[in-house]
Parts: sequence; C-alpha cells; structure tokens
Amino acid sequence: MFVLYDLVIIGGGPAALAAAVYAARQKVSFVVVAENIGGQTAISADIENYLGFPATNGAELSGFFEKHIRKYGIDVKEGEKAVDLRKSGEGFIVKTALAEYESRTVLIASGKKPRKLNVPGEDRLYGKGVTYCATCDAPLFAGKDIAVIGGGNSAMDAALLAEKYSNKAYIVNINPELTGDAVMADKIKNSKKIAVFNNSRTTEILGEKSVTGIKFSQGGSNETISVQGVFVEIGYIPSIDFDRLTGKNKWNEIIIHQENFETNLTSVPGVFAAGDVTDVPEKQIIVAAGEGVKAALSIFKYLGSETKGY
Ligand SMILES: Cc1cc2nc3c(=O)[nH]c(=O)nc-3n(C[C@H](O)[C@H](O)[C@H](O)COP(=O)(O)OP(=O)(O)OC[C@H]3O[C@@H](n4cnc5c(N)ncnc54)[C@H](O)[C@@H]3O)c2cc1C
Repeated sequence: MFVLYDLVIIGGGPAALAAAVYAARQKVSFVVVAENIGGQTAISADIENYLGFPATNGAELSGFFEKHIRKYGIDVKEGEKAVDLRKSGEGFIVKTALAEYESRTVLIASGKKPRKLNVPGEDRLYGKGVTYCATCDAPLFAGKDIAVIGGGNSAMDAALLAEKYSNKAYIVNINPELTGDAVMADKIKNSKKIAVFNNSRTTEILGEKSVTGIKFSQGGSNETISVQGVFVEIGYIPSIDFDRLTGKNKWNEIIIHQENFETNLTSVPGVFAAGDVTDVPEKQIIVAAGEGVKAALSIFKYLGSETKGY
C-alpha cells in the first residue's frame, strides 16, 4: 500500500528522537528510519551536562530517550539504514535495504560516525580486536595489551580507560605531541602502564583470526608492536553517505547555519537537518536535542500544519 508521509526522520540520536516526540504530539504522519537508537549518546560513558541529569551515562540516558518515544508508539524502523535520498513527484524518497519511504519532507539527523584509519587489516579485524568505541569495549581487553590510535582528547580518554583494564596501553599518535586536555596529558605522562609513540603513522593492523599487532612508521623506520586490541580514536565524520542532495561545508557537514540557521532548512526546500550532521558548531547532546525540536517546528510550518500544542 502506498503511503505518502508528511515526514521521514533519518536517525536515532537525540536530534532525531527529540524531533520525533514533537512530531508525534503534533500528529503529523511520519516514520523514523534509524540504524540504531541512541546514536553517539548510547556509547558515551559519564554524562554530566544534560539538564536534569547531574550524573548519568550513555546507556541510561538513551534508555530514557527510547522510553519517551515508545510512550507515543512512534513508528521506528530500527536497524534500517538510509542508503539513498532522492526527489520524487510529491516530495522525497528515502531508501533503505528493506523499503522506500515517500514523504513531503525529510529531516536528516544522522549525526556522526567514527573516522576510519583506512589501513590494511582494519575492516577484516573489526570486531576481532579493532574497535571504534573504547567506552563500550575496554573491559573486553582485561589483562591484554592494546594500542590506541590518535592523539587528541578521545585517544587520551581511551588510553586512560584502557589503563583500568589492560596490561599495557600504547598511544600511537601521528602528531609531534598529544593535543587537548592538559590534565589528561599529565595523567598519561605519569602512568606506568601507558607508553606514547609520537610522530607515528599506523600503516597496518596485523592478525589472522584476531588482532596480534600493529605496524607503524616513525621517522624513517618501520616498527611493529604486539597488541591484542586496537582502539581507533581519530575523530568523527558526518554520516551523509546516502545524501547527495544537500549542500555541505568543507567538513562535509550539511549547511543549515547561515541564512537557514533559524529554520534548520538545508539548500533543498523540504529537506531539513539537525544535530551533529550539520554545521552547527556545538556538538553536544542537549544542543542536538534542541536542534531537533527547532527543525520539527520549522517542518510543521513548512507543512502548513496548525500548531496543536507541543
Ligand atoms: C564518546 C563520546 C562521548 C560524548 N560525551 C558527551 C557528553 O558527555 N555530553 C554531551 O553533551 N555530548 C557528548 N558527546 C557528543 C554527543 O553524543 C553528540 O553531540 C550527540 O549525540 C549528537 O546527536 P545527533 O542526534 O546529532 O547524532 P548521533 O548521536 O550521532 O546520532 C545519529 C543517529 O543516526 C543514525 N544514523 C546514521 N546514519 C544513518 C542512516 N544512513 N540511516 C539511518 N540512521 C542513521 C545513527 O545510527 C544514530 O542513531 C559525546 C560523544 C562521544 C562520541
């Protein structure tokens, strides 16, 4: 049966879910296409800056998000990933591996995903020692040796987490020194369990069935260290593989900021965006949730729907 929705929301993080709650209360016809529920929030460890929750963690907070959307019986296509977004007669079609959803408007709230190293062994050994979520996986490496690839706050955070569980943690950093929080850098310097290789470019992850080591080049020489885990912590990039319609900035973030700042409209009428996937500079849970709500309110105006009370 053909359904033309008012709105398709792409994403399952705070931006998407906050918009979904408003859409449910506004009683527009909509569906949420979400690869997972919670997004980056679900993989955050301690969260102490979300209003109303002085001390929580990612699993708990995203659990509350989920409870909230379930209360409204929102149609969430969980586990479905948008693979294409195109224009159609009446609006747009969002395509997943399982279905096509046609809609008058689209809200892109697909957030960010970890940047890959793009070295041999990385894809093959993903889940077999290679992880992009130290917070989720550090306990799995109890008593083992691990390498953290990166040199910023996330890498330092991952190394300090690994320190609690692992036998030894190596930080392999492409830059001449660690960058970011000085307090964390000091803790790392004083740790007996963490060693830092600066000016070091990871070139390969080794192992057949699971990770056994990494190779990296340092100056003119090639080094190999034996590790059973590799935590890749080299930043995040926007999840926009499915979207060839909207304008992006040089970081591949969807541009809403300039003249569309207040409306969350993208360069394409009818397509809105919110949260970390956009060029809004503050990448925070509470900002993403607020941006999701702003976008929802703009979408209701665009649809010409009367305010029924939020
Ligand atoms: C380790 C870590 C710790 C953090 N700690 C804090 C903190 O303490 N406080 C704070 O305020 N912020 C913190 N942040 C930042 C915060 O998590 C993000 O700013 C926020 O989650 C962004 O929300 P979002 O909804 O825009 O995107 P995301 O949370 O990235 O969610 C994107 C959603 O879209 C889905 N998705 C992606 N692509 C597709 C697709 N093609 N089809 C369907 N669905 C798709 C994803 O599965 C996900 O559900 C942290 C981030 C990380 C990584």
